[in-house]
Order: sequence, then structure tokens, then C-alpha cells
Amino acid sequence: MKILIADDDFTSRAVLAGVLEKQGHEVITAVDGAEAWQIMQQPGAPRLVILDWMMPKMDGLEVCRRIRALETDVSPFLIMLTSKSEKAEIITGLEAGANDYLAKPFDPGELRARVEVGRRMVALEDALVASRDILAHEATHDPLTGLLNRRAILDQLRKELARTRRDGSLLGVGMCDIDHFKQINDTHGHQVGDDALCGLAQILGESVREYDSAGRMGGEEFLVIMQMTAGSDCVAVFDHLCQKIAASSIQTRAGALAITVSIGAVCAAAESTVDDILGAADAAMYRAKRQGRNRVAG
Ligand code: GH3
Ligand code: MG
Ligand code: MG
Repeated sequence: MKILIADDDFTSRAVLAGVLEKQGHEVITAVDGAEAWQIMQQPGAPRLVILDWMMPKMDGLEVCRRIRALETDVSPFLIMLTSKSEKAEIITGLEAGANDYLAKPFDPGELRARVEVGRRMVALEDALVASRDILAHEATHDPLTGLLNRRAILDQLRKELARTRRDGSLLGVGMCDIDHFKQINDTHGHQVGDDALCGLAQILGESVREYDSAGRMGGEEFLVIMQMTAGSDCVAVFDHLCQKIAASSIQTRAGALAITVSIGAVCAAAESTVDDILGAADAAMYRAKRQGRNRVAG
């Protein structure tokens, strides 16, 4: 683990570093509080910090307070190093955000044990953050295709609409439905149908730019949200996507398949609501189906 030792006393720094490096830790040092604070604001900052209380430029207590005020995902484990063994002062240190304290002159065995407690806390926090991130991803993504799920793509549409109202930008929204998808399932089986859904999702994912989004509404229906530049034609943009899909060959476990989609394209006006847009895109998609499929209706 990467550990920061902040202490203005050379000997103390060297002894601390010696003990911790022997334990296999990567040690970096700071000679005063200002340098420690500087290091802790960098990305990838150490997760365990040993802070001397009395240091020039900024004392350990102030470094502690500043670190705790940082708005970060994970917070480092802070050990105050102090020759102050007064109870009141220890309490002040803990109140400033320290997790633990170590009295100077320190005992190497105690140092190792307290650092090990810190390492366990950091590992626990990492595991919690990782599982929180997995849950957040699962809550917003479709498990089959990996695209945004219905809730997430509709949230995105709501956000984009709000932005459209603020800055007067234009939004193109396309409801894409695979043509005769039931036939793929009936002919090749459900798993091949799933492969086709994943293949289409991949094309959609690759076709949208960084600030655009694609999501799976359900079944074989996908929603694509694109930022439109002034004067661009929404139907033409989705027409391009429709042709790209028809020209692609999608790899499935039964070999390459060709699929087409019908798209209902809507250019969102500032006053439209999510419901208006979805209703209009759905109606347009069904028009495209009636007009013969593999096309866009606006
Ligand atoms: P159309 O051109 O009118 O859209 O015809 P279609 O066959 O695509 O539409 P229909 O609504 O009749 O059939 C859609 C099929 O999609 C039926 C359903 O079983 C299938 N489906 C829905 N979700 C999934 C899925 O996750 N995996 C697979 N393999 N099939 C699915
Ligand atoms: Mg369909
Ligand atoms: Mg359908």
C-alpha cells in the first residue's frame, strides 16, 4: 500500500519509512504540512497517511481537516503522530478527522499493528466502493446488451430535454425496432435472437458519439438520443443509421445474419415532454413499419 509520512523531523521520517518499507509498503514522504496537503490533493493520493502534529507551514491537525473536507469517493486512513499524550489533545486530533494516533517516540510493533488496522479499513472501503459501483451499473444497464436500460435511457432523455430548454439546442430521438425479429427466434432459436440483439446494440453503441446515448427500451426496441447541430435534418441522421444497420452483418452463433430496423424519428422541441416525444416516436416507428419496414419515418 502507498503510505504518506509527513514529518519535519528527518530521523523520525527515516525510522518510520524503514519500518513500513520492510513491511512491503511503498512510502512517500513530505517535510511539512503544506507539502503533505499538496500530495493529498493529487489523483491516486496515498490511502494511508501518517501525520506529525507539529510541522512547519501547516500543522498536522489542519492537514487532517483539509483532507476530510475533500469531496472524494474514498477517504484515506489518517494516523496522527504526536508527542502530546494529553487526552484533550488526542480528542482534538480525532475530532479533526484522524482515525488513530501514535505517541512519539513510537514503538515499531505498535506502528506495524496500527498501520495494519488502517490497511484493513482501506481494503474494506475499496470493497464497498466496488460493490456500490457494480450495483449502480446493474441498476442502469441492460444485462443482455450492456446498453443503458429503459429507466436510464429515459432519465437521460429527461436530462437532455432540460438542457435543450436551457440552451436552445436540438435533440433527435429515434425509436428503433428490429423488423420481423420473431422470425429470427423462430428460425434459429432464442439464443441466436439474443446474439442479434447484442450485435445491434454494438452497432448502436458505436454509432452514437460521446455525448449521444443509446438504450434498450425492452424486447427488440431501442431508443437513440442524438444531439443535432443547427440545420441538420433529424430524419436524415436516423436514415444514415438505418442504412448502416441494414448493411452490417451481425455475428451470431448460427453465423452472420442481416437485420433491418424501422425507426420513428422525432426532433424534440424545447416545449416537448418525455411522454410527447415517446408517443410521437412510437407512432412514427409504426408508420415506418406500415410503409414497408427498413426505413425511417418522421
Ligand atoms: P415487426 O417487424 O412488426 O417489429 O415484427 P417483430 O417480429 O420484430 O415483432 P414482434 O413484436 O411480433 O416480435 C418481437 C419478438 O421479440 C417477440 C419476442 O419473443 C422477441 N423478444 C423480445 N425480447 C427478446 C429477447 O430478449 N431475446 C430474444 N431472443 N427475443 C426477444
Ligand atoms: Mg420488431
Ligand atoms: Mg416490437
